[in-house]
Amino acid sequence: MAKETIRQITRIIKGQNTSDGAGVKIKRIIGTGELNQLDPFLLLDEFKNDNPDDYAAGFPDHPHRGFETITYMMAGAFTHRDSRGNEGHLTSGSVQWMTAGKGIIHSEMPEQTDGLAWGYQLWLNLPKKLKMMEPQYQDLASETLPVVEKTGIRVKVLAGEYGGVQSPGKSFIPFTYLDVQLDPGTFIFLPAPPDQNAFIYVIKGKVETGPETNFREVKNGFLGVWGEGETVLIKNGGNEKTHLLFASAQKINEPVARGGPFVMNTMGEVKQAFYDYQTGNFLKP
Ligand code: MN
Repeated sequence: MAKETIRQITRIIKGQNTSDGAGVKIKRIIGTGELNQLDPFLLLDEFKNDNPDDYAAGFPDHPHRGFETITYMMAGAFTHRDSRGNEGHLTSGSVQWMTAGKGIIHSEMPEQTDGLAWGYQLWLNLPKKLKMMEPQYQDLASETLPVVEKTGIRVKVLAGEYGGVQSPGKSFIPFTYLDVQLDPGTFIFLPAPPDQNAFIYVIKGKVETGPETNFREVKNGFLGVWGEGETVLIKNGGNEKTHLLFASAQKINEPVARGGPFVMNTMGEVKQAFYDYQTGNFLKP
């Protein structure tokens, strides 16, 4: 593959500590003043708390419209309930994929209040033509998510495809989401087609990425955003195992109007979402 097609890191961003829900301490990585969005990624939150006081109150009933939430649990357990009658138990290594579409009310509550609760929630936008689709819910148990192992490399396919295997998760726009572990001295190429935006979030260790002649280092706790290109090259040049999340998805290229838990194309549509929620329309089938 020609060198010019390898994407270069253009931004490196540190997550910001904040709280959400009923006072759950989180680190917001996308969806901040520094990086409001990366089309079509609207938000990326990390929750990683070993003190129940920091997470036990969870995220009681709240609405969403116009996008999808994809929650990946690393440790601990959460229970999801929603206004469509879905109930899911998120355990370590599982993915919960909720397509809010025209409107859903859900709660996300810790199942136990001791031990580590650790996971990531990604908000993926929907294009105008799908914003008002019927809500969908997918519970993907850890053992249903395929893992590709090569020497020194382990890739768990959360969404999309890698190495000839496909996640059972159903995407509504082209979207790849991978949990990647690299031993020291290994490298990996991952697909990030030109019409997509892509990022990595490093969970453990550090990586070098970009064209080999111009590597940039991304350390644990940081998000790396790539510029234009067709593929990404990620290398573990350190002496410690590294663990990261990789995501790439098709740009939607439409106006984004955000109002709290609603993400539409215009502020008028956001106002309508608040009205529909307040007048009980989200509870109608
Ligand atoms: Mn939610």
